[in-house]
Amino acid sequence: MLRGPEIPDYVRGMMVYVPGKPIEEVRRELGIKDEIIKLASNENPLGPSPLALEAMRRALPELHRYPDGGGFYLRKAIAERFKLGMERVILGNGSTDIIEMIARAHLADGDEAVFSQQSFVMYPIAVASVNGRGVAVPATADRRHDLDAMAAAIGPKTKLVYIANPSNPTGTYVTRTEMDRFLDRIPENVLVAVDEAYHEYVEPGDYPDCLDDVRAGRNVIVLRTFSKIYGLAGIRAGYAFASEETIANLNQIRSPFNISHLAQVAGLAALEDEPWAARCRAQNIAELAFLHAELGRRKIAHTPSVANFILIEPGRDIQPLFLDLQKRGVIIRPMGGPGLANCARVTVGTRAENIRLLQALDDLLAADRK
Ligand SMILES: *Cc1c(COP(=O)(O)O)cnc(C)c1O
Repeated sequence: MLRGPEIPDYVRGMMVYVPGKPIEEVRRELGIKDEIIKLASNENPLGPSPLALEAMRRALPELHRYPDGGGFYLRKAIAERFKLGMERVILGNGSTDIIEMIARAHLADGDEAVFSQQSFVMYPIAVASVNGRGVAVPATADRRHDLDAMAAAIGPKTKLVYIANPSNPTGTYVTRTEMDRFLDRIPENVLVAVDEAYHEYVEPGDYPDCLDDVRAGRNVIVLRTFSKIYGLAGIRAGYAFASEETIANLNQIRSPFNISHLAQVAGLAALEDEPWAARCRAQNIAELAFLHAELGRRKIAHTPSVANFILIEPGRDIQPLFLDLQKRGVIIRPMGGPGLANCARVTVGTRAENIRLLQALDDLLAADRK
C-alpha cells in the first residue's frame, strides 16, 4: 500500500472549521420551494455597502494587476479615520487572517494562548495550527468571559490571550471596568488580542473601545472587519491596530498579497459609507430588541446579546431542531461543545426574516408546550 505524505500529529489532530452548506444545495436536497432565509453566519441582512459595490464595479478593469501588497491607501484611510499612525495598522484577508497571523507570529511549539471556552472557534484552530496549546477557560454562568479565571490561567508559557468583544456565539460583552482590571493584571510579554468584529453594533455605554488601549501603549491588538456592519463578508477584508512593533512582527509572516485589490477598494469605499453603517446599526438595534422580546414572550431561553445574533437554548436536542427548521427554509447555526450543548446561534435578520424564524420555532416547539 502506498503511504501518503507524512504530516505532524498536531495537524492530523486539528479541529476543522465546518462551514454550512451552500443555500442552493440545501434547497436542491430538500426540494424546498419557499425562499430560504440564512440566519447562520451573522451576515448583514441588508446586503453590501452600496458605495463599496460601486467602487468594486469601477475597479474590475484593473484586475490584471497585483494588489498593492502594502495596502497603502486603505491603511492610510483607516489610520486617519481612527487617529493612529499607518504603521500601526495591518490588513487581513478577513480578520480571521489576522487571528491566524497573531498565532503564527507569537507562538512557538507548546506556547500557550488563553481564550474563553464559549468564544470564537477560530482561536483554538489558529493556535492548534502552529502547534500551540489552547487554554480554554470556562465562561461564567451568564455566558460572559470569566476574566479573573483567564488572568489566573496565564502561566510562564502564555504568549497570547484572545478576547472576542462582544463574543461570538454568546453575544455578551466585557465592560470598560472589567477590561481595565484584566489588562492591569497581564504580564508585559503577553499580547491581548481584542476581536471587535461586532464593535459597530454595540449600544451600551460601558462597552470599551479598545483602540484607546492601543493608543495608551498597552500590549493590545484590536481587530475589526468589513464583514459584518459593512456587509462585505464575501470579499474578505479585515484590519487591526497595535503598536508599531507588533504590526512589524505580524508583517514578518504576512503573505505579501493577503488582501485582494477588490477587497482594498471595497474597504476604502465602505469607510466613506457611514450612512450605510448607521442604517444597518439602527435596524439591528430595533430587530435585536424585537427578537429578545419575542423569544422572551415564548419563554425560549436565550442569552441577552449586544451584537447582530442571539444564542438560544430551546431546551431540546438541537440537531433535529436545526434540521426541521432547515426543512422549513430557515437556516440557523447549531452549537455544541462544553457549555454550548443544545444551543444555537441565530442571526438578527430583517423583520420579515425574524418573523419567519419565530413562526417556524412556534410550529416546531408547540408540541413541547402541550
Ligand atoms: C465574524 C467574526 C469575525 C470576522 O471574520 P472575517 O474573517 O473578518 O470575516 C471575526 N471574529 C469574530 C468573533 C467573528 O464572529
